[in-house]
Amino acid sequence: MTAADPRTIYLSDYQPYSHLLEQVELCFHLDPAATRVKARLHMAPNPLRPGKQDVRLDGEGLKLISCAVNGEALNVVPDATGLSIAAARLPSGAFVLETEVEIAPEDNTALEGLYMSNGMYCTQCEAEGFRKITFYPDRPDVMTRFKVRIEGDLPVLLSNGNPVAQGADWAEWDDPWPKPAYLFALVAGDLVNFPDHFTTMSGREVALNIWVRPGDEGRCAWGMASLKAAMLWDEQVYGREYDLDIFNIVAVDDFNMGAMENKGLNIFNSKAVLASADTATDDDFARVESIIAHEYFHNWTGNRITCRDWFQLCLKEGLTVYRDQQFSSDLRSAPVKRIQDVLALRARQFREDGGPLAHPVRPDHYIEINNFYTATVYEKGAEVIGMLRRLVGDADYARALDLYFARHDGQAATIEDWLAVFAEVSGRDLTQFKLWYTQAGTPVLKVSEDWADGRYTLTLEQENPPTPGQPEKAPKLIPVAIGLIGPNGDEVVPTQLLEFGEAKHSYVYDGLGARPVASILRGFSAPVIVERSVSIEDRAFLLAHDSDAFNRWEAGRTLGKELLARMITEAAEPLPEFLAAMEALAFDDTLEPAYRALALRLPSEDDMAATLFAAGHVPDPAAIHAARDALHLAMAQQMRPRLAALESAMHVPGAYSPDAASAGKRALRLGVLGLLARLDGGSAAREAYYDASNMTESFGALAILLEIGEGSTVLADFEEKFQDDRLVMDKWFAVQVACAKPEAMADVVRDLTQHRGFDIKNPNRFRAVFGAMAANHAGFHEADGAGYDLLADWLIKLDLLNPQTAARMSTGFESWPRYDIDRQEMMRAALERILASKGLSRDLGEMAARMLAR
Ligand SMILES: [Zn+2]
Repeated sequence: MTAADPRTIYLSDYQPYSHLLEQVELCFHLDPAATRVKARLHMAPNPLRPGKQDVRLDGEGLKLISCAVNGEALNVVPDATGLSIAAARLPSGAFVLETEVEIAPEDNTALEGLYMSNGMYCTQCEAEGFRKITFYPDRPDVMTRFKVRIEGDLPVLLSNGNPVAQGADWAEWDDPWPKPAYLFALVAGDLVNFPDHFTTMSGREVALNIWVRPGDEGRCAWGMASLKAAMLWDEQVYGREYDLDIFNIVAVDDFNMGAMENKGLNIFNSKAVLASADTATDDDFARVESIIAHEYFHNWTGNRITCRDWFQLCLKEGLTVYRDQQFSSDLRSAPVKRIQDVLALRARQFREDGGPLAHPVRPDHYIEINNFYTATVYEKGAEVIGMLRRLVGDADYARALDLYFARHDGQAATIEDWLAVFAEVSGRDLTQFKLWYTQAGTPVLKVSEDWADGRYTLTLEQENPPTPGQPEKAPKLIPVAIGLIGPNGDEVVPTQLLEFGEAKHSYVYDGLGARPVASILRGFSAPVIVERSVSIEDRAFLLAHDSDAFNRWEAGRTLGKELLARMITEAAEPLPEFLAAMEALAFDDTLEPAYRALALRLPSEDDMAATLFAAGHVPDPAAIHAARDALHLAMAQQMRPRLAALESAMHVPGAYSPDAASAGKRALRLGVLGLLARLDGGSAAREAYYDASNMTESFGALAILLEIGEGSTVLADFEEKFQDDRLVMDKWFAVQVACAKPEAMADVVRDLTQHRGFDIKNPNRFRAVFGAMAANHAGFHEADGAGYDLLADWLIKLDLLNPQTAARMSTGFESWPRYDIDRQEMMRAALERILASKGLSRDLGEMAARMLAR
């Protein structure tokens, strides 16, 4: 459907901008209802576009006050998307184009461009928000030096780069590094800072600040420690040094995304930077650390080298996600981090890749680019880089990155530029590998095995399923890490990398004394779905003996999925071998607690729905929910005599510390409390709640109690304690929806939207309620369709205020083709209703149409 839409933008249509922009000077006179923005654009002809060219500037919702060229007033009338000036009206050679516009930040509920949050001015310009601030060539390949003056009656006035001058009610900033407009930022408000400093590897002193609302200073220490760790890590691992005298981070309550890497002035959603023991969980601490690092790492991968156009978004995002994953893996536990990343990839990216919204890591067309900040671009983009590294090896990866930074610093680059440095350094032809960037869909890796006379034969086949607009695909180059394990648990063939690039290929291992058990796709060496028929004995063997920590976990995971599938479709009983293996793992003191906690977590209901659908079944959400409950109970009964001892062994004494080892113990303890709750009616969890000295334990216990329907008293207590804390209250809203009994979920959601703390304009609060519906699979898919109706009603309301967040949250419907006809029809009807809604945005309209088109 998109191909025929006149608003569709195509990668193949790219051409350089008509002019070069040598410098821009901006002056803001702040006012909530009528902010004035003056822009002076120093323009010159672009030699890549010969002949005298018209100037086209992007601009939306701007009231034009004046326009002048080289100081002479020009009478121009903007259209709905910008301003054009014919070549004939422009001088030859270089010129200065000046405009003054008026905007109303207080009316900006879309939170793109310049807007207000709790009396503070802030900006969000990626991807195309700058055009809501002033008339400008708002595209990433137009890079220039920004000088900014801010006038406003507020104590803190911030922009990008270094501060150059300030007085009462004004400040001036100069960013020496050329950048595209999407990296522009401005913040003005009554803020306090949490200061620190960092000395770079070459001895540059950098002032560091985290700016927050008064009262939040006590929640900044972890963010600051994370920032310093990230700065050091990027010097040590990638040789990248920070390049300004100051680095500012600002926390904002109303923010569409997690955080934004504006040059020298990162703007964060409060929940992605603030953390303290009594308000944030261990997972929050880990997330803050990773997001701070991610945005900081963008300074090189995104800011110094940016994207030529938005089709290249994965160039900065895939690489920066890969880097932040490496960072967390180095600081914490590598196997645990890998498992967490793969769980997230499967939950979000595989789901996207297998449905109507599937698109390549580098898409080739879009209507609204905001709809392509997806798990595919980010997480699969990172997986593709991980594969590239496996193929060329660590040494060539490092050389390729050095070459990339040296060659493209200060440029707006492409995926072709990125692959070229790898091809050059490694001498490899990466033509086939590039298919990972251009083909959508998750490949299926089919494994068959044969054993005879000391010879083990492994046959791999790949299937690349059709996706929207891509019915047929050539085989991809898939790096498959494998090892062979002998009967006594020894590695008879240690890990090796098979470069599998055909539709089908067999690999032969001769001279083996006994039938080996193969450990395939070690470390999850490629983002594929493995189809392999393995006996319960062999899975249990891998679960006990695989030296690859990821595959050991995977063996238990797969066993759990197969068992759950049989419980759902054949009413099978929980398998004793599985229960025994899970118990052995849970109580294996040689394994780190975080790993054991992950191993105990059963596959999610959504994951089971996908698994059943892939196996040719129509998933029944209620049956999946019941089977998962039954398996949890069986695990609890199996381990009953030993649970209390394990629970107390995982107590972490003393003051709270968010370090990975302590967090791992708390995670295992909560996993055990979850099992105990199935046996004791929640008494241990209730005790843990009232004894808790940190948010991890009190919130974890609350969730456990809600899941077994015993949470109401504790829920009220939690609300009373934290009613004035917006971030903790987001959790309170979300957990009730996520943990509600399926049949009660819609009522819980309705009640929460009536709560005095519910605010449709705050994306965090909206996501807390409606995003949590996705975590309650059986509740969202209740047979009466109440969940679908609710989500559609509220997306239609939100779309009028904040199209970007409405569009992102519409993915709740993306898996509709999996379900029975009745549910399919109800979900399609909900999407049709969205499409027909009055005032529908381009953002939400594109999403709904893509989901319906399949
Ligand atoms: Zn990013």
